[in-house]
Amino acid sequence: MTQANPPAAACRGRLHFASLGSGSKGNATLVSDGETHVLVDCGFTLRDAERRLARLGLHPRQLDALLVTHEHGDHIRGVGPLARRHGVPVWLTPGSWASGRLGELPERRWITPQVRFEVKGLCFDPVTVPHDAREPVQFRIQGGGRHLGLLTDIGHPTEHVVRAFAGCDALALECNHDIRMLAEGPYPPRLKRRVGGDWGHLANTQAATLLARLGLDRLQRIACSHLSEHNNRPELVLEALVPLLDGDTSRLMVACQDDGLAWQAIA
Ligand SMILES: [Zn+2]
Ligand SMILES: [Zn+2]
Repeated sequence: MTQANPPAAACRGRLHFASLGSGSKGNATLVSDGETHVLVDCGFTLRDAERRLARLGLHPRQLDALLVTHEHGDHIRGVGPLARRHGVPVWLTPGSWASGRLGELPERRWITPQVRFEVKGLCFDPVTVPHDAREPVQFRIQGGGRHLGLLTDIGHPTEHVVRAFAGCDALALECNHDIRMLAEGPYPPRLKRRVGGDWGHLANTQAATLLARLGLDRLQRIACSHLSEHNNRPELVLEALVPLLDGDTSRLMVACQDDGLAWQAIA
């Protein structure tokens, strides 16, 4: 996969996003307007995260903030090490902090669910989602008049989520598993119930239903994210979502575990 350079400061105001990698082995998403660079989650080891950031043209010291959605390992593995090594402030909910899994942080800022906060010109709306963590949130982000939704690790679509993420210009949406692959796959029964349950992860068909409810008119980019290595395949994701797009698949892309997703500009 070709990886473009980060958006230049000359693009100030234009919202961009990229993925360092997405899936059950690690997640991290970059959001930038050309001047402010924010990393949402870091589920990779310090060295791996540094390597993946470099692939997208960024040094960790250029990060203005590190945001945590929830305390599962595939989202926080590298948060403490990256923050300590490079002095990046970490924003998280009191619940995520209370999990005790983050270690010491050089600079800690609280996220209050449903209360907007700003990081140097980028606006973040933290939205409560149903997921089996202490106080999980996902983010709707505003910059330069454009809206980006980051929505993974959600057990089922709630009315609150539909209202909070409706009408975005771009969306990174969880397409975790194919229901049949999960049922017939290698996971033990307890894990199958957890993943497929209301506090687990979103199935492809649920993602399609949610996407239709959120509205596709303004959506320029749909980044299918957090695909399960064992219980999904990109072609099954596309099969579920393509019927919604009237044959226009150019706005659909898959963020993968190894390569992530190159910088995407939101026009
Ligand atoms: Zn996850
Ligand atoms: Zn999770």
